[in-house]
Amino acid sequence: MKDSNFLKEHNGRLMWHPMTSPKDSADAPPTIITGADGVSITDIDGHRVVDGVGGLWNVNLGYSCQPVKDAIAQQLDILPYYSTFRGTTNDVSIELSYELSKFFAPDGLSRAFFTSGGSDSVETSLRLARQYHKLRGEAGRTKFLSLKKGYHGTHIGGASVNGNANFRTAYEPLLPGCFHIPAPYTYRNPFNETDPEALAQLCLQALEDEIAFQGAGTIAAMIMEPILGAGGVIPPHPSFAPAVQDICNRHGILLITDEVITAYGRTGAWSGARLWGIQPDMMATAKAITNGYFPFGAVMMGQRMLDVFEDNPNAKIGHGYTYSGHPVGAAAALACLAETQRLNVPQNAAARGTQLYEGCRALMEKYDIIGDVRGGYGLMTAMEMVSDRATKKPIDAATAQTVQEVAYQNGAMVRVSGPNLILSPPLILSETDATTILTALDAGFAAA
Ligand code: PLP
Repeated sequence: MKDSNFLKEHNGRLMWHPMTSPKDSADAPPTIITGADGVSITDIDGHRVVDGVGGLWNVNLGYSCQPVKDAIAQQLDILPYYSTFRGTTNDVSIELSYELSKFFAPDGLSRAFFTSGGSDSVETSLRLARQYHKLRGEAGRTKFLSLKKGYHGTHIGGASVNGNANFRTAYEPLLPGCFHIPAPYTYRNPFNETDPEALAQLCLQALEDEIAFQGAGTIAAMIMEPILGAGGVIPPHPSFAPAVQDICNRHGILLITDEVITAYGRTGAWSGARLWGIQPDMMATAKAITNGYFPFGAVMMGQRMLDVFEDNPNAKIGHGYTYSGHPVGAAAALACLAETQRLNVPQNAAARGTQLYEGCRALMEKYDIIGDVRGGYGLMTAMEMVSDRATKKPIDAATAQTVQEVAYQNGAMVRVSGPNLILSPPLILSETDATTILTALDAGFAAA
């Protein structure tokens, strides 16, 4: 390992960072994290803080999850790689598909297609949705619907269904035939509706209108996050997702839930689908499936997909990744599933989520800079920062940065994304750790 002077000298200059301009990372080099334990991370100067970000919404079981580490180390010794492409497979990925089919049975999902991460899982679900309709003789169903402010990763398909211009404009032209429905975002919406249930109805009507305008027979699938994550933690009214499912069913449109964040306990339920009581046709998962220790993902399939793809000699899947079903990733995922269930992590996510959400609401009473607090479903919370509560003018980047930096100096890593300060800590967070995050945020807001 190079010494810390070498690392600091080269930091931000040789590596192009996701979602950052090379100039910005050279001018303001990122924090260098060199170690982690429990729910804490340590930087190159030895400063140790509670990780309020949970890696990137993925380290649900914290950094010291020994069963997952052991599973990875052992699998590297036994079979470090073998492909699942035509004609071969590996034992661990078979076992994982069996365990996932049990885990997701209440969501009506029973088959797995393995990927290398969240963007791959989204891309897989979009491609299989089109193939599903072609196999049924409805080749005209090629379009996709999604929610504004949704985030679906960075491949061209995922970027096309993304509902945030930041991830789209520079990469246009994207996939044609992708249409975005207003999100049930109570704080800001084109209808100026502040009641969540009434807003859900307006968004549902917009969905119906778009389907009528496009023609149901042209639409392959609707993809949505059960709770919008990167877009600023936007939970819909509980009536929303079941009604979306109903509309999709009525029009023969597949429903894909993008659960790259919400699957495996983060919302306080085992999946986002189960939180809202829906059964999607496909579910895209990744992130916490391996606790962030190995790049891996799984798309789970519902009965409609089975009906069309199984027992069908024409249903060849012309899609897959070198690392689909990677044995080391599969071993990590098996250990994660077992730990997630043994610890019953959704229960703690719900309890600590309530603590953080209420703590953030108390901060909102104290600081005008906080315009809105969203969450209340497990450990996904956001505070939207404004420079003026009356006009809801978004905060400037420098002030938002100050909140993050001062919180860091006071013991917690938190994430600023645009005007939103997002909290997505590990699901094994203790009451004391949650208090540390809130105290650090208090200091951050006081400084800003
Ligand atoms: N979908 C959702 C809902 C996400 O939050 C993310 C990443 O944050 C992705 C897809 C893309 O996942 P990845 O970054 O692993 O490709």
